[in-house]
Amino acid sequence: MTASDNKESQLAKAAISLMEKHGISPTPEHYAVWFFYASGENTALVREIEHVIEHNISFSKETLGYLYNKFVLAASNTGQKTVDEAAENAQRTLTEMLKIATGLTGETSNYNKSLDVYMHQIGKSIDHPDVRAIFKDLMATTAQFKERSESIGQKLEESTKEIDTLRKELEKVTHASQRDFLTGVYNRKTFEQMFDEQMALVKEEKKEMCLLMLDIDHFKRFNDTFGHLLGDEVLKIVAHSLMNMLKGRDVVARFGGEEFIVILPETGLEGAMRVAEIIRSNIASKELKQRNTGENYGTITVSIGVARLRPESDTLPSLIKRADEALYRSKHDGRNRVTKEG
Ligand code: GH3
Ligand code: MG
Ligand code: MG
Repeated sequence: MTASDNKESQLAKAAISLMEKHGISPTPEHYAVWFFYASGENTALVREIEHVIEHNISFSKETLGYLYNKFVLAASNTGQKTVDEAAENAQRTLTEMLKIATGLTGETSNYNKSLDVYMHQIGKSIDHPDVRAIFKDLMATTAQFKERSESIGQKLEESTKEIDTLRKELEKVTHASQRDFLTGVYNRKTFEQMFDEQMALVKEEKKEMCLLMLDIDHFKRFNDTFGHLLGDEVLKIVAHSLMNMLKGRDVVARFGGEEFIVILPETGLEGAMRVAEIIRSNIASKELKQRNTGENYGTITVSIGVARLRPESDTLPSLIKRADEALYRSKHDGRNRVTKEG
Protein backbone atom coordinates (compact mmCIF):
# COMPACT_ATOMS: atom_id res chain seq x y z
CA MET A 1 0.00 0.00 0.00
CA THR A 2 1.26 3.53 -0.72
CA ALA A 3 0.08 6.83 0.69
CA SER A 4 -1.33 7.83 -2.69
CA ASP A 5 -3.62 4.81 -2.55
CA ASN A 6 -5.60 6.01 0.39
CA LYS A 7 -8.39 8.47 0.43
CA GLU A 8 -7.13 10.57 3.35
CA SER A 9 -3.91 11.38 1.64
CA GLN A 10 -5.72 12.29 -1.58
CA LEU A 11 -7.91 14.66 0.40
CA ALA A 12 -4.92 16.08 2.22
CA LYS A 13 -3.21 16.78 -1.08
CA ALA A 14 -6.37 18.38 -2.52
CA ALA A 15 -6.85 20.55 0.58
CA ILE A 16 -3.25 21.74 0.55
CA SER A 17 -3.25 22.59 -3.13
CA LEU A 18 -6.56 24.50 -2.77
CA MET A 19 -5.10 26.42 0.17
CA GLU A 20 -2.08 27.32 -1.89
CA LYS A 21 -4.25 28.34 -4.83
CA HIS A 22 -6.39 30.66 -2.70
CA GLY A 23 -3.51 31.97 -0.63
CA ILE A 24 -4.83 30.61 2.65
CA SER A 25 -2.45 30.90 5.58
CA PRO A 26 -1.44 27.49 6.91
CA THR A 27 -3.07 26.89 10.27
CA PRO A 28 -4.64 23.67 11.54
CA GLU A 29 -8.10 25.35 11.54
CA HIS A 30 -7.76 26.46 7.91
CA TYR A 31 -6.46 23.08 6.92
CA ALA A 32 -9.44 21.42 8.62
CA VAL A 33 -11.87 23.65 6.70
CA TRP A 34 -10.27 22.82 3.36
CA PHE A 35 -9.91 19.15 4.13
CA PHE A 36 -13.60 19.04 5.02
CA TYR A 37 -14.42 20.96 1.85
CA ALA A 38 -12.35 18.64 -0.32
CA SER A 39 -14.16 15.66 1.18
CA GLY A 40 -17.44 17.05 -0.20
CA GLU A 41 -19.21 15.61 2.82
CA ASN A 42 -20.99 18.77 3.82
CA THR A 43 -22.85 20.31 0.88
CA ALA A 44 -23.59 23.51 2.80
CA LEU A 45 -19.87 24.09 3.34
CA VAL A 46 -19.20 23.34 -0.32
CA ARG A 47 -21.85 25.86 -1.37
CA GLU A 48 -20.52 28.57 0.99
CA ILE A 49 -16.94 28.18 -0.28
CA GLU A 50 -18.04 28.12 -3.90
CA HIS A 51 -20.05 31.25 -3.26
CA VAL A 52 -16.96 33.01 -1.89
CA ILE A 53 -14.91 31.86 -4.90
CA GLU A 54 -17.56 32.81 -7.45
CA HIS A 55 -17.97 36.28 -6.00
CA ASN A 56 -14.29 36.82 -5.72
CA ILE A 57 -14.56 37.46 -2.02
CA SER A 58 -11.23 37.05 -0.27
CA PHE A 59 -10.80 34.26 2.23
CA SER A 60 -10.07 36.55 5.13
CA LYS A 61 -9.22 35.34 8.62
CA GLU A 62 -12.76 36.23 9.65
CA THR A 63 -14.38 34.34 6.76
CA LEU A 64 -12.31 31.27 7.46
CA GLY A 65 -12.96 31.54 11.22
CA TYR A 66 -16.64 31.70 10.47
CA LEU A 67 -16.50 28.65 8.22
CA TYR A 68 -14.44 26.78 10.80
CA ASN A 69 -16.86 27.48 13.65
CA LYS A 70 -19.97 26.88 11.59
CA PHE A 71 -18.99 23.75 9.78
CA VAL A 72 -15.96 22.14 11.27
CA LEU A 73 -16.55 22.58 14.99
CA ALA A 74 -20.28 22.16 14.63
CA ALA A 75 -19.80 18.88 12.88
CA SER A 76 -18.94 17.27 16.20
CA ASN A 77 -15.35 18.36 16.33
CA THR A 78 -14.66 17.12 12.83
CA GLY A 79 -11.58 19.36 12.65
CA GLN A 80 -9.81 17.32 15.25
CA LYS A 81 -11.31 14.21 13.75
CA THR A 82 -9.83 14.85 10.31
CA VAL A 83 -6.38 15.39 11.70
CA ASP A 84 -6.77 12.35 13.92
CA GLU A 85 -7.93 10.29 10.99
CA ALA A 86 -4.99 11.32 8.87
CA ALA A 87 -2.56 10.51 11.69
CA GLU A 88 -4.30 7.25 12.39
CA ASN A 89 -4.10 6.36 8.76
CA ALA A 90 -0.37 7.03 8.58
CA GLN A 91 0.09 5.10 11.79
CA ARG A 92 -1.76 2.14 10.30
CA THR A 93 0.45 2.13 7.25
CA LEU A 94 3.58 2.28 9.38
CA THR A 95 2.33 -0.56 11.54
CA GLU A 96 1.86 -2.63 8.41
CA MET A 97 5.42 -1.86 7.39
CA LEU A 98 6.74 -2.71 10.85
CA LYS A 99 5.01 -6.05 10.52
CA ILE A 100 6.85 -6.68 7.26
CA ALA A 101 10.09 -5.72 8.95
CA THR A 102 9.63 -8.17 11.82
CA GLY A 103 10.05 -10.92 9.27
CA LEU A 104 13.55 -9.60 8.56
CA THR A 105 14.76 -12.31 6.24
CA GLY A 106 16.58 -10.82 3.33
CA GLU A 107 13.65 -8.51 2.75
CA THR A 108 15.19 -5.73 4.78
CA SER A 109 16.39 -3.86 1.75
CA ASN A 110 12.96 -4.08 0.09
CA TYR A 111 11.42 -2.89 3.29
CA ASN A 112 13.77 0.07 3.48
CA LYS A 113 13.02 0.98 -0.11
CA SER A 114 9.27 1.03 0.55
CA LEU A 115 9.90 3.00 3.69
CA ASP A 116 11.86 5.62 1.76
CA VAL A 117 9.04 5.95 -0.75
CA TYR A 118 6.47 6.13 1.97
CA MET A 119 8.32 8.76 4.01
CA HIS A 120 8.81 10.82 0.90
CA GLN A 121 5.10 10.63 0.16
CA ILE A 122 4.10 11.61 3.67
CA GLY A 123 6.41 14.57 3.39
CA LYS A 124 4.85 15.60 0.11
CA SER A 125 1.23 14.95 0.82
CA ILE A 126 1.17 16.72 4.15
CA ASP A 127 2.93 19.81 3.09
CA HIS A 128 1.65 21.93 5.92
CA PRO A 129 3.88 22.96 8.80
CA ASP A 130 1.30 22.45 11.56
CA VAL A 131 -0.07 19.19 10.35
CA ARG A 132 3.43 18.03 9.63
CA ALA A 133 4.32 18.48 13.26
CA ILE A 134 1.91 15.69 14.09
CA PHE A 135 4.00 13.34 11.96
CA LYS A 136 7.39 14.61 13.05
CA ASP A 137 7.82 12.23 15.95
CA LEU A 138 6.35 9.40 14.00
CA MET A 139 8.79 9.96 11.18
CA ALA A 140 11.76 10.38 13.51
CA THR A 141 10.93 7.05 15.12
CA THR A 142 10.53 5.51 11.71
CA ALA A 143 13.87 6.89 10.56
CA GLN A 144 15.51 5.40 13.64
CA PHE A 145 13.86 2.11 12.94
CA LYS A 146 14.98 2.26 9.32
CA GLU A 147 18.58 2.76 10.43
CA ARG A 148 18.31 -0.11 12.89
CA SER A 149 16.75 -2.41 10.36
CA GLU A 150 19.53 -1.58 7.91
CA SER A 151 22.16 -2.65 10.42
CA ILE A 152 20.14 -5.74 11.33
CA GLY A 153 19.98 -6.52 7.61
CA GLN A 154 23.74 -6.17 7.32
CA LYS A 155 24.34 -8.39 10.35
CA LEU A 156 21.89 -10.88 8.96
CA GLU A 157 23.78 -10.98 5.69
CA GLU A 158 27.11 -11.43 7.51
CA SER A 159 25.74 -14.30 9.61
CA THR A 160 24.20 -15.91 6.55
CA LYS A 161 27.61 -15.85 4.85
CA GLU A 162 29.28 -17.25 7.98
CA ILE A 163 26.69 -20.01 8.26
CA ASP A 164 27.17 -20.81 4.60
CA THR A 165 30.96 -21.08 5.03
CA LEU A 166 30.53 -23.30 8.09
CA ARG A 167 28.02 -25.47 6.25
CA LYS A 168 30.48 -25.93 3.36
CA GLU A 169 33.28 -26.76 5.81
CA LEU A 170 31.04 -29.28 7.52
CA GLU A 171 30.13 -30.84 4.17
CA LYS A 172 33.84 -31.16 3.33
CA VAL A 173 34.67 -32.72 6.70
CA THR A 174 31.69 -35.09 6.47
CA HIS A 175 32.63 -36.07 2.94
CA ALA A 176 36.24 -36.70 3.97
CA SER A 177 35.23 -38.72 7.02
CA GLN A 178 33.16 -41.06 4.86
CA ARG A 179 35.80 -41.63 2.20
CA ASP A 180 38.98 -43.54 1.76
CA PHE A 181 41.73 -40.94 1.73
CA LEU A 182 43.70 -42.41 -1.20
CA THR A 183 41.02 -43.52 -3.63
CA GLY A 184 37.96 -41.39 -2.75
CA VAL A 185 35.55 -44.35 -2.58
CA TYR A 186 33.65 -45.00 0.68
CA ASN A 187 35.62 -46.28 3.65
CA ARG A 188 34.73 -49.46 5.46
CA LYS A 189 32.85 -47.78 8.31
CA THR A 190 30.53 -45.93 5.91
CA PHE A 191 30.19 -49.07 3.85
CA GLU A 192 28.86 -50.94 6.88
CA GLN A 193 26.27 -48.24 7.56
CA MET A 194 25.21 -48.21 3.92
CA PHE A 195 24.99 -51.94 3.85
CA ASP A 196 22.52 -51.90 6.78
CA GLU A 197 20.42 -49.24 5.04
CA GLN A 198 20.37 -51.05 1.72
CA MET A 199 19.65 -54.41 3.33
CA ALA A 200 16.63 -52.92 5.19
CA LEU A 201 15.40 -51.36 1.93
CA VAL A 202 15.64 -54.46 -0.25
CA LYS A 203 13.98 -56.56 2.45
CA GLU A 204 11.12 -54.06 2.53
CA GLU A 205 10.93 -54.02 -1.28
CA LYS A 206 11.27 -57.80 -1.38
CA LYS A 207 14.09 -57.44 -3.87
CA GLU A 208 17.41 -59.21 -4.31
CA MET A 209 20.83 -57.84 -3.44
CA CYS A 210 24.38 -59.02 -4.18
CA LEU A 211 27.87 -58.35 -2.91
CA LEU A 212 31.11 -58.30 -4.92
CA MET A 213 34.54 -58.81 -3.33
CA LEU A 214 37.35 -57.67 -5.60
CA ASP A 215 41.08 -58.13 -5.14
CA ILE A 216 43.90 -56.92 -7.39
CA ASP A 217 45.96 -59.81 -8.73
CA HIS A 218 49.67 -60.05 -7.87
CA PHE A 219 49.68 -56.55 -6.56
CA LYS A 220 52.69 -57.21 -4.38
CA ARG A 221 54.64 -57.97 -7.53
CA PHE A 222 53.46 -54.74 -9.15
CA ASN A 223 54.60 -52.75 -6.11
CA ASP A 224 57.92 -54.55 -6.03
CA THR A 225 58.53 -53.94 -9.73
CA PHE A 226 57.36 -50.35 -10.13
CA GLY A 227 57.36 -48.97 -6.61
CA HIS A 228 54.71 -48.27 -4.01
CA LEU A 229 53.80 -44.85 -5.39
CA LEU A 230 52.89 -46.28 -8.75
CA GLY A 231 50.97 -48.97 -6.86
CA ASP A 232 48.95 -46.17 -5.27
CA GLU A 233 48.13 -44.82 -8.74
CA VAL A 234 46.86 -48.25 -9.73
CA LEU A 235 44.58 -48.34 -6.68
CA LYS A 236 43.15 -44.99 -7.78
CA ILE A 237 42.62 -46.23 -11.34
CA VAL A 238 40.76 -49.32 -10.12
CA ALA A 239 38.63 -47.23 -7.73
CA HIS A 240 37.69 -44.74 -10.48
CA SER A 241 36.81 -47.54 -12.90
CA LEU A 242 34.50 -48.98 -10.26
CA MET A 243 32.86 -45.62 -9.56
CA ASN A 244 32.33 -45.01 -13.27
CA MET A 245 30.82 -48.40 -13.90
CA LEU A 246 28.41 -48.46 -10.98
CA LYS A 247 25.27 -46.40 -10.70
CA GLY A 248 22.18 -45.48 -8.69
CA ARG A 249 22.07 -47.16 -5.28
CA ASP A 250 25.25 -49.21 -5.89
CA VAL A 251 27.88 -48.66 -3.21
CA VAL A 252 31.63 -49.11 -3.66
CA ALA A 253 34.13 -49.07 -0.82
CA ARG A 254 37.75 -49.90 -0.14
CA PHE A 255 37.66 -52.93 2.08
CA GLY A 256 41.36 -52.84 2.89
CA GLY A 257 44.77 -52.88 1.10
CA GLU A 258 44.07 -53.76 -2.55
CA GLU A 259 40.57 -55.09 -1.92
CA PHE A 260 37.30 -53.42 -2.83
CA ILE A 261 33.75 -54.35 -1.94
CA VAL A 262 30.59 -53.49 -3.86
CA ILE A 263 26.89 -53.62 -2.91
CA LEU A 264 24.51 -54.14 -5.82
CA PRO A 265 20.98 -53.55 -4.53
CA GLU A 266 18.00 -54.69 -6.64
CA THR A 267 20.30 -57.19 -8.40
CA GLY A 268 20.07 -60.97 -8.57
CA LEU A 269 23.04 -63.38 -8.80
CA GLU A 270 23.10 -63.56 -12.60
CA GLY A 271 22.85 -59.76 -12.95
CA ALA A 272 25.66 -59.35 -10.42
CA MET A 273 27.80 -61.84 -12.37
CA ARG A 274 27.32 -59.75 -15.53
CA VAL A 275 28.25 -56.51 -13.69
CA ALA A 276 31.34 -58.22 -12.21
CA GLU A 277 32.40 -59.48 -15.61
CA ILE A 278 32.13 -55.98 -17.12
CA ILE A 279 34.27 -54.63 -14.25
CA ARG A 280 36.86 -57.37 -14.66
CA SER A 281 37.20 -57.02 -18.46
CA ASN A 282 37.25 -53.24 -18.31
CA ILE A 283 40.17 -53.18 -15.83
CA ALA A 284 42.05 -55.93 -17.71
CA SER A 285 41.81 -53.98 -20.95
CA LYS A 286 43.61 -50.90 -19.56
CA GLU A 287 47.21 -50.46 -20.57
CA LEU A 288 49.06 -48.63 -17.83
CA LYS A 289 51.40 -46.02 -19.20
CA GLN A 290 53.47 -43.21 -17.77
CA ARG A 291 51.79 -40.13 -19.17
CA ASN A 292 54.96 -38.06 -19.73
CA THR A 293 57.56 -40.64 -20.70
CA GLY A 294 55.19 -43.19 -22.30
CA GLU A 295 56.81 -45.94 -20.24
CA ASN A 296 54.62 -49.05 -20.28
CA TYR A 297 53.72 -50.87 -17.05
CA GLY A 298 51.60 -53.54 -18.70
CA THR A 299 48.17 -54.37 -17.42
CA ILE A 300 46.66 -55.29 -14.10
CA THR A 301 43.86 -57.75 -13.50
CA VAL A 302 41.40 -58.34 -10.71
CA SER A 303 39.68 -61.39 -9.28
CA ILE A 304 36.07 -61.14 -8.10
CA GLY A 305 33.80 -63.23 -5.89
CA VAL A 306 30.00 -62.77 -6.01
CA ALA A 307 27.47 -63.66 -3.30
CA ARG A 308 23.73 -63.14 -3.05
CA LEU A 309 22.02 -61.91 0.13
CA ARG A 310 19.90 -64.44 1.98
CA PRO A 311 17.50 -62.01 3.59
CA GLU A 312 16.25 -64.35 6.29
CA SER A 313 19.60 -65.57 7.63
CA ASP A 314 22.42 -63.29 6.44
CA THR A 315 24.41 -60.74 8.39
CA LEU A 316 27.12 -58.66 6.75
CA PRO A 317 29.93 -61.00 7.95
CA SER A 318 28.15 -64.14 6.71
CA LEU A 319 27.54 -62.58 3.29
CA ILE A 320 31.15 -61.32 3.10
CA LYS A 321 32.38 -64.81 4.00
CA ARG A 322 30.60 -66.38 0.98
CA ALA A 323 31.82 -63.62 -1.37
CA ASP A 324 35.35 -64.10 -0.01
CA GLU A 325 35.20 -67.85 -0.58
CA ALA A 326 34.10 -67.24 -4.18
CA LEU A 327 36.97 -64.76 -4.59
CA TYR A 328 39.40 -67.32 -3.25
CA ARG A 329 38.21 -69.77 -5.92
CA SER A 330 38.78 -67.12 -8.60
CA LYS A 331 42.36 -66.81 -7.36
CA HIS A 332 42.80 -70.52 -7.12
CA ASP A 333 41.45 -71.07 -10.63
CA GLY A 334 44.03 -68.75 -12.15
CA ARG A 335 42.98 -65.14 -11.26
CA ASN A 336 41.50 -62.51 -13.62
CA ARG A 337 38.09 -64.12 -13.32
CA VAL A 338 34.67 -63.90 -11.68
CA THR A 339 33.23 -66.68 -9.51
CA LYS A 340 29.86 -66.94 -7.84
CA GLU A 341 29.12 -68.49 -4.46
CA GLY A 342 28.13 -72.13 -3.98
P1 GH3 B 1 47.00 -62.03 -5.04
O1 GH3 B 1 46.86 -62.07 -6.52
O2 GH3 B 1 47.03 -63.38 -4.43
O3 GH3 B 1 46.00 -61.13 -4.43
O4 GH3 B 1 48.45 -61.43 -4.76
P2 GH3 B 1 48.76 -60.04 -4.13
O5 GH3 B 1 50.22 -59.77 -4.32
O6 GH3 B 1 47.86 -58.99 -4.67
O7 GH3 B 1 48.38 -60.29 -2.64
P3 GH3 B 1 49.13 -60.06 -1.30
O8 GH3 B 1 48.09 -60.14 -0.22
O9 GH3 B 1 50.31 -61.02 -1.20
O10 GH3 B 1 49.71 -58.61 -1.36
C1 GH3 B 1 48.89 -57.48 -1.32
C2 GH3 B 1 49.75 -56.28 -1.59
O11 GH3 B 1 48.98 -55.12 -1.74
C3 GH3 B 1 50.72 -56.05 -0.51
C4 GH3 B 1 50.83 -54.57 -0.38
O12 GH3 B 1 52.11 -54.11 -0.71
C5 GH3 B 1 49.84 -54.06 -1.42
N1 GH3 B 1 49.10 -52.95 -0.87
C6 GH3 B 1 48.15 -52.94 0.10
N2 GH3 B 1 47.73 -51.68 0.33
C7 GH3 B 1 48.41 -50.85 -0.49
C8 GH3 B 1 48.44 -49.43 -0.71
O13 GH3 B 1 47.72 -48.66 -0.09
N3 GH3 B 1 49.28 -48.97 -1.65
C9 GH3 B 1 50.08 -49.79 -2.36
N4 GH3 B 1 50.87 -49.27 -3.28
N5 GH3 B 1 50.11 -51.12 -2.16
C10 GH3 B 1 49.29 -51.65 -1.25
MG1 MG C 1 44.47 -59.12 -0.98
MG1 MG D 1 45.80 -59.17 -4.29
